[in-house]
This record gives sequence, C-alpha cells and structure tokens, in this order.
Amino acid sequence: MPRLIEGRLVIATHNPGKLWEIAALLKPYGVEAVSAGDLGLPEPEETGDTFIANAELKALASAKGSGLPAIADDSGLCVDALDGAPGIYSARYAGEGRDFAAAMQKLEKELAAKGAKPPFRAHFVSAISLAQPDGAVRSFEGKVFGTLIFPPRGGLGFGYDPIFLPDGHDKTFGEMWAVEKHSIPDDGSEALSHRARAFQAFAKACLA
Ligand code: IMP
Repeated sequence: MPRLIEGRLVIATHNPGKLWEIAALLKPYGVEAVSAGDLGLPEPEETGDTFIANAELKALASAKGSGLPAIADDSGLCVDALDGAPGIYSARYAGEGRDFAAAMQKLEKELAAKGAKPPFRAHFVSAISLAQPDGAVRSFEGKVFGTLIFPPRGGLGFGYDPIFLPDGHDKTFGEMWAVEKHSIPDDGSEALSHRARAFQAFAKACLA
C-alpha cells in the first residue's frame, strides 16, 4: 500500500485538544500537521448520521478548502440500553456549555427511566477519515467496549471518561493518564482507546 501522505497534512479541527492529540500521533511518521483553524478554514456542520459520515465531511471540507490532504475524526459514546444514544450527538448531549458532569447525570437518569439494570453496556467509537483535495477519501473506525458506572470516578481525561470502565480494566478512563489510554504500543499490540485503535488502522493503511 503506497504512502498516502507526503509532507503537509491538515488536521480538520478547531479543537486545540484534538489538534494536540492527533499531531502527537502523527509526529513519529514525519508528517507536518497544520490545523484547519490556523488556515482559517470554515468548520462544516456535522450533518451526517454516522461517525464516518461526519468524519468524512469534515476531512473533505478541509482538503478541498486547502488543496492539501486532510484528516478528521468524529467520536462518541453509545449506550446499549439507550439504543446507542448519545452516539453521534455525544458532544451536543452535554448542551451548549459542554457540561459533562450534567451529561453523565442525565445518562444515569435516562437509564433509570428506562428501567435498565447494571451492567450498563456501552462503547466508544472513533472514526478517522483521510481526504484528498480531489475528493478521494478513506475511513477507519476504532471501538472500545465496557460498562458505565455511577457515580463517576476520576478527574483525568475529558467528556464521559469518568463513567466508562473498559472491559478487562479496574480503572475508569477518568482514572487513567492519557498515555495509558491513548498510546500506541510499540510491539504492534492493540491500543486501548477507540481513537488510538482507529489511528492504528489508519496508520497501517496510509502511513506504513
Ligand atoms: P466530536 O468527536 O468532537 O463530535 O465529539 C465527541 C464527543 O464524544 C466528545 O465531546 C466527548 O463528549 C465524547 N467522547 C469522545 N471520545 C471520548 C473519550 O475518549 N472520552 C470521553 N468522552 C469522549
């Protein structure tokens, strides 16, 4: 499989946290990353109805707007007893103020209202798309399965991390340092987080 990326690559995000994380994952591959925000590219509305559709529309908008290859991600938490909600609406579920303490309480209430009983099965999903200025696009997905626990545990991480207990671990994502959650193992074994897993699939296909 040929390398799809040479030189500069746009990271299609205006979110400094995501920019930092994706730039760090790309660094070992010698790719120079610039952000859509730095290039003054507009942020498209997330109108897709899947994680991949949203990642693709963000990557394509940046690739077409910049004339450079662009990478974007879209992610969220899917709760089985809530028929996959909040899913692609995970960020919006926390309201305009992105209050995730309130969003986690709201999830607990919705599970109770549904009469759901623990273990509350859930998974995080991350889709990563690489788009070329000519409109070619490739997408990769990573998932991590686990259970939701209440009350939330741990002040590390972000979003829904404090209620997510990944299978096979006794710490929530909120009790793990970023390196444990997101790093890509050197020995080729599977990473832990959905985003790191999606990146592994992307790197294998496009950066090897
Ligand atoms: P988006 O990918 O920017 O649309 O936002 C996805 C939302 O899903 C974030 O705002 C978080 O609330 C949630 N999310 C995605 N990945 C994670 C994670 O690794 N930990 C906690 N929450 C996450």
